[in-house]
Amino acid sequence: MEKRVVYTAATIAAVACVVAVIVIRKRSKGIKWGKVKEMFKEIESKCALPIERLKQIASAMETEMHAGLASDGGSKLKMLLSYVDRLPTGGEEGLFYALDLGGTNFRVLRVQLGGKEGGVVRQEYQEVSIPPHLMVGSSHDLFDFIAEALSSFVASEGEEYKVPEGKQRELGFTFSFPVKQLSLSSGTLIKWTKGFCIEETVGEDVVAELTKAMERQGLDMKVTALVNDTVGTLVGGRYEDGDVMAGVILGTGSNAAYVERASSIPKWHDELPKSGEMVINMEWGNFKSPLLPVTEFDEALDFESLNPGEQIYEKLISGMYLGEVVRRVLLKISEEFPIFGDIVPPKLESPFILRTPQMSGIHHDSSPDLKVVAKKLKETLGIHNTSIKTRKFVVDVCDMVAKRAARLAAAGIYAIIKKIGRDTLSDDKQRTVIAIDGGLFEHYTAFSDCLERTLRELLGEEVANSVVIKHANDGSGIGAALIAASHSN
Ligand code: ADP
Ligand code: MG
Repeated sequence: MEKRVVYTAATIAAVACVVAVIVIRKRSKGIKWGKVKEMFKEIESKCALPIERLKQIASAMETEMHAGLASDGGSKLKMLLSYVDRLPTGGEEGLFYALDLGGTNFRVLRVQLGGKEGGVVRQEYQEVSIPPHLMVGSSHDLFDFIAEALSSFVASEGEEYKVPEGKQRELGFTFSFPVKQLSLSSGTLIKWTKGFCIEETVGEDVVAELTKAMERQGLDMKVTALVNDTVGTLVGGRYEDGDVMAGVILGTGSNAAYVERASSIPKWHDELPKSGEMVINMEWGNFKSPLLPVTEFDEALDFESLNPGEQIYEKLISGMYLGEVVRRVLLKISEEFPIFGDIVPPKLESPFILRTPQMSGIHHDSSPDLKVVAKKLKETLGIHNTSIKTRKFVVDVCDMVAKRAARLAAAGIYAIIKKIGRDTLSDDKQRTVIAIDGGLFEHYTAFSDCLERTLRELLGEEVANSVVIKHANDGSGIGAALIAASHSN
């Protein structure tokens, strides 16, 4: 009797196996790849950015740049005055600290500058990740957390650093959010972006907030300069290379700063700086134009975001969003066609589950059977047993989203180059260097390669030879310290 039961169970199992194989066969046969490709082509055509369209986008951005420089509120582009009118000369000297609050991490840094001969004598930094609940909690808690980390970093300062007797330590504060600067060392928060949302900080002077938190920690330090990360990147880049004219961030978010002639800033009413120059923080993430290739996926992403209607350009090009756009495209297609099996993988429905680093891992997979893609799909989205065809298709979706982003970012850089008149060849063949920083640019090679190729295409070969893109690794922290140094008393 017992034997019979076992036999029956085994039979059932065997039959189930055969049925399963047939179902799997049928399922993969059930994908009408022709139709899938058709749907993909349609989305791709909406994301397409031929060079002429990119040039129009760059012109539209340039127009907005003029409008933003003419008056406050004149444009979606805030074109914020940075009050940085002295770029480093190399003569900066002393011990300086910097604090860099970005999208996901913040860094504390100390640097000993040795003047003309010495350069950066030594530097150390520490990176701390920001607990997500602090990004949407209270101002007090966020700044306390930062001041505490800074305080313990200062406590670890070695004997080899030289604090001049009787002098307060000084700090350059890199704050990567839109700020209405009131002076070099003060500014009020216009709005949070990226994943931050703490209502009570908006309109407050972030230097005062930090200073109060430092006092609560018993930390005696002066905030000499408040700088945007783009400005820090530009300045850090300029210290290394005298031809750096702009700093661009392509990380969690995206933004750019560049050196403008003070006489080209109508909204600047004070006395013109001696240098005749002023660094402008564009806040280009908020650029918007009907020319931008915004699809239904971007609209839905924007609608559900913390800041609907805002930062549209940033949502198309920066690291916080690219993986999420890919997820939305894959979700839509898998609802129409069984590319991942008969049911839509439940994890694919959860927002922000596919992050940009995973997307770039997928995109960069060069193994013949795309096993990295298979692994990422399994680990991130719980999608098992993918065919090579499906994996290849997922790579194509990443490629489409990354390419659109990289080409749009190149158009932004081209707009700056045009605005400062470096889009034609000068008699003295002046070099123009753009310093770029951020995890997206640094790690996503398919993205950064495409950006550089597109910029060459926009400039034309001859001019392109005089324009250099430089990866400024962590330039923004050093830049903030340098600004503190050159404006120190
Ligand atoms: P932040 O923008 O917070 O100042 P980073 O400049 O280091 O910090 O950028 C981090 C961002 O860069 C991440 O949020 C992510 O979007 C992107 N990123 C990091 N690593 C990779 C990677 N391997 N591939 C693609 N994007 C990456
Ligand atoms: Mg950063």
